[in-house]
Amino acid sequence: MPDHFLFTPGHEAYRARVREFARTELAPRSSEWDRAAVLPREALRLLGDHGLLGIVAPRSRGGEERDYVSLGIAIEEIAAADVSCAQIAWIQNTIGHFFPGWGEDTLRAVQRGEAAIALATSEEDAGSDVSAMKTTATLDGDEYVIDGSKIHVSLTPGASVLAVSCRMPAPDGRRAIGMLRVPADAPGVTIAPMEQMGARAHSLGAVRLDRVRVPCTATLGAQNEGKALMYARYNVSRCLSPLAALGAAGDVLRRTMDFARGKVVFGRPIAMNQSVSFPLVEHQAKVEAGRLLCYRALWMNDQGLDASTEAAMAKWFGIGAGIDAVKDCLPLWGANGYLKEFPIEQKLRDVLSLNFTGGTLNIMRVLLVRQLLGADFAGLRA
Ligand SMILES: Cc1cc2nc3c(=O)[nH]c(=O)nc-3n(C[C@H](O)[C@H](O)[C@H](O)COP(=O)(O)OP(=O)(O)OC[C@H]3O[C@@H](n4cnc5c(N)ncnc54)[C@H](O)[C@@H]3O)c2cc1C
Repeated sequence: MPDHFLFTPGHEAYRARVREFARTELAPRSSEWDRAAVLPREALRLLGDHGLLGIVAPRSRGGEERDYVSLGIAIEEIAAADVSCAQIAWIQNTIGHFFPGWGEDTLRAVQRGEAAIALATSEEDAGSDVSAMKTTATLDGDEYVIDGSKIHVSLTPGASVLAVSCRMPAPDGRRAIGMLRVPADAPGVTIAPMEQMGARAHSLGAVRLDRVRVPCTATLGAQNEGKALMYARYNVSRCLSPLAALGAAGDVLRRTMDFARGKVVFGRPIAMNQSVSFPLVEHQAKVEAGRLLCYRALWMNDQGLDASTEAAMAKWFGIGAGIDAVKDCLPLWGANGYLKEFPIEQKLRDVLSLNFTGGTLNIMRVLLVRQLLGADFAGLRA
């Protein structure tokens, strides 16, 4: 289907290149990585070898220096083959890009797929409500001492350096949220895996920080800039997670349409029943609508425009549309859809993981209420 009004010939060529790579190199390994449920070094290396971990990074630092629309194209195509790899790719591309201070050596290693970085923000009582964060960084001479616990951290175990958000002293004397670079093997850091139902190869972990010492120079961005950096990243990452859901859904819809044309029951293809064909075309239309919202918001980011409202809409609509499509396709395969041997059940588990990352769909609704109706109606803290 032509999207020329939206994409340049360069974008189309890039999509074709990433699609070919993802179909031949990632898709055949997807179920094996799902079963192993650990961050696959092989996937990192493959993504790194194809320039997919430094898509928006400057060429002078070993990146591809492409626009955010290209980043979205890559995530959509990777997710069609493997949702975990899409999560790995968007996390590496965005936290490397939006949080200044990782150090050139670390970023180059990340871009080559030789190392991984992770973002540790969520806590038991501070998931949606970041302001409730309890982890602290206290100044002691020229070091910070970090105490606290993080959960649901993607790419852990496996990442070698973590961006840990914590309450820390701000220049105005209050405690603001800042972000510190913490090596995963620093004394006092303990990491435990958290078993997940889907996207199992992107790995999820709990991180305990007991009097962890890092130098004052380990801040990512300015001392009190943690929230601002996270929000800047959200404007892009909230377009990438729905594109992952929609990429996976697009693949499932394509396979299910092929299947429904060929599967004969009661002497005719099941696609001849409108109760089968109508949902397929309706979901395809919703997938296309979701893609448009995502690419519009990414394009706005490319133009330097504030896309916070558009990104929240893209995420709320796109993830819902992606999950619904995969969920409704599964039973059309009959009992086979439910079997491990067929790829649909993994895709359903995988896309469900996208419900939460970077803020739940309810939180997207709350943000939209705040932006469209006014802060008084959103029920958030002042
Ligand atoms: C696969 C995956 C990857 C993740 N990766 C990371 C990561 O890399 N780094 C990281 O720090 N965190 C990560 N997370 C955590 C994620 O950011 C949180 O799960 C998410 O922000 C929601 O927080 P919570 O799970 O604590 O839910 P809670 O905040 O406890 O919310 C519970 C429920 O209440 C709803 N709710 C809360 N407030 C409202 C309201 N005002 N109105 C309506 N409904 C509301 C929520 O939508 C949710 O359904 C990841 C999670 C998953 C599942």
